[in-house]
Amino acid sequence: MTTGNTSKGIFGIHHVTAITSNPQRNMDFYTGTLGLRLVKLTVNQDDPTAYHLYYGDELGRPGTILTFFHWPNIPRGRRGTSQVIATAFLIPENSINYWIDRFKKRQIEYRGPYKRFNDEQVITLYDPDGLALELVAHTSAEDRKVNIWKEGLVPTEYAIRGFYSVTLSEEGYERTASVLTDELGFIPTLHDGSRFRYEISISSSSTIDKEKEAIGVGGARIVDVLCLPYTQQALIGIGSVHHVAFRTPTDAQQLILRRNIVKARLNATPVIDRFYFHSVYFREPGGILFEVATNPPGFTVDEKADALGTRLVLPPWLETMRNDLEKILPPVIFPKKELIDQ
Ligand code: ZN
Repeated sequence: MTTGNTSKGIFGIHHVTAITSNPQRNMDFYTGTLGLRLVKLTVNQDDPTAYHLYYGDELGRPGTILTFFHWPNIPRGRRGTSQVIATAFLIPENSINYWIDRFKKRQIEYRGPYKRFNDEQVITLYDPDGLALELVAHTSAEDRKVNIWKEGLVPTEYAIRGFYSVTLSEEGYERTASVLTDELGFIPTLHDGSRFRYEISISSSSTIDKEKEAIGVGGARIVDVLCLPYTQQALIGIGSVHHVAFRTPTDAQQLILRRNIVKARLNATPVIDRFYFHSVYFREPGGILFEVATNPPGFTVDEKADALGTRLVLPPWLETMRNDLEKILPPVIFPKKELIDQ
């Protein structure tokens, strides 16, 4: 791979946020079937009458976090261009049969495994809302053992190791590519047909970079752009990705990134305090909502590590509304091993 380029301050994917119609079914699938940890059940800060669910590794480290807005009353999403069309998790190479058996037992439709770029085996599946997911078996899973949630329902040796990549579908790819490379620090690495791959490359010789990266999961540094010029535009709705966030280690670095994004004539929001991280949003030229999110402070800012995802958590400024919100939000049963591993 080309030598390191971390000068832009992006270290890979931070989180992916999608839309669900049913929080209980969503929880049962991501904790019960995929074995992720529910690391936070809270509300959407911009619409506190809707849940915001977060899944991840044992602490919900950046690079492992899949989140959902619970918006049951919006239309279903439609697949097309200008969207994150697939979210891929990394699994160990020896786990393919395990996952296929698991999906068969649970009557979950899947496709694959099929080969991508020589050294990847990909299984495609859809969550209960129709969100496209991929499990990618790759040797790099060997390096990412440490953060697995040991109490998860999938044995550690087969468990998901955080994200592998996201795939963006675009009518044309050049302007999106230039934002990925010029503003975010990705470099083009592979190309196969209409799939163009971009990666953040971390220089292994740089201890500073390693230190900055320590809080993130490592990896999750791949973005594929699928160029689909004759495809209709996507409709973002239930079962689709709302946005993808890229991780940066500090607030100072985030401000530099924001300044560069604005210089590139893209509209960026001010820094928004999302309580678990700080966020800047902007739309890339193909129309997909991107976010730059800080690694700190993380999900243990308001719950102890062993208690993550065991109760409804509200940001302090909404705590006075708890009684009202609990009446509006649909009741959910928190993941319990004995209830869901059937
Ligand atoms: Zn976000």
